[in-house]
Amino acid sequence: MSRTRAPLRLPGTMQVLERGWLSSNSIVFDDGSAVTIVDTGYVSHAPLLVQLVEQLRRGRPLARIVNTHLHSDHVGGNAALQARFRPTIAIPPGQAAAVRQWDEQRLNYAATGQQCARFDYDTLIDLDRPLRLGGLDWEVIGGGGHDPEMALFHSHDERILVSADALWENGFGVIFPELEGASGFAEQQAVLDRISALAPRIVIPGHGAAFADSGAALEAAYRRLEYLRSDPQRNARHAAKVLIKFWLLDVRSTTMQRLHRHFARTDYLRLIQRRYFPRLDLAQMIDSYVDELVRAGAAEFAGGLLHNRD
Ligand SMILES: [Zn+2]
Repeated sequence: MSRTRAPLRLPGTMQVLERGWLSSNSIVFDDGSAVTIVDTGYVSHAPLLVQLVEQLRRGRPLARIVNTHLHSDHVGGNAALQARFRPTIAIPPGQAAAVRQWDEQRLNYAATGQQCARFDYDTLIDLDRPLRLGGLDWEVIGGGGHDPEMALFHSHDERILVSADALWENGFGVIFPELEGASGFAEQQAVLDRISALAPRIVIPGHGAAFADSGAALEAAYRRLEYLRSDPQRNARHAAKVLIKFWLLDVRSTTMQRLHRHFARTDYLRLIQRRYFPRLDLAQMIDSYVDELVRAGAAEFAGGLLHNRD
């Protein structure tokens, strides 16, 4: 069923670069003298992002990168943009030390089996002070079950929310803390409640198109949260499939042997198997999720290889 979308009225000082799922969206703010970019995608798409920014900045300096959080699909272009344009980088405060030391374990690149080019930050986002982006003040909203250190940005004047991975048009990012036995569902509930109270006119998610109907998205997100929360194995299974699909989006095609070798080295799938599916061994668990991805049309076997399907 197709639905006609009313065009979204965004201020002229901002532009959304909708990227897909391997790379997060980027938002380019231009206040007339300098450009800021929010989030920079996955590392393998960094050369494309550098080209896009070169075109969009129209001779103005790229002064600043701001990251909503430090997952590999949101900061992967930081290093390439910094090498090319010398912007400053602002990150949420929670993982500052891990970034400075480039601790890939704490930054969860090792645990997820994802890559990120090393960068360093210049400033920390102050959770108590609005950020100035594109001539507007944006309140910084902390938290969420996907990543407790994540920052969302809300313009009260325009009633626009940059929601990162806390709210998508149909869902939200994997609730990673729960996989490790920490709390995440309650935090996800809290951030959805906060967004409900703001009732934004437009939501710019970390992935997928910007959308106007925040009420419908929130309803879907609450339902999804209830579904996951009532049986945490569902969250674990979903996380495992997301991690496999994400890797497949990057490598495009693989032998099953290479896939097994890759995930045997990453913590999250081993953790998911031990905590949630102890009766399966890791390889069996992975095979069953690959089968589910194939049945769902997200991957296919051909010529002895597993291929990504968009
Ligand atoms: Zn994320």
